[in-house]
Amino acid sequence: MTVIDPICKMKVEESNAKYVSEHEGNKFYFCSSGCKAKFDKDPHRYGH
Ligand SMILES: [Zn+2]
Repeated sequence: MTVIDPICKMKVEESNAKYVSEHEGNKFYFCSSGCKAKFDKDPHRYGH
């Protein structure tokens, strides 16, 4: 399944995503550690 990186809107393949964060029970997938770090800093801005 393909998911969208909420930071940069890039498509990420869920099965081989290396950068994953959980926020309020939802999982978010990222293309890079940089995008994940941005999300982790301010999940409310991106998670909704
Ligand atoms: Zn990204």
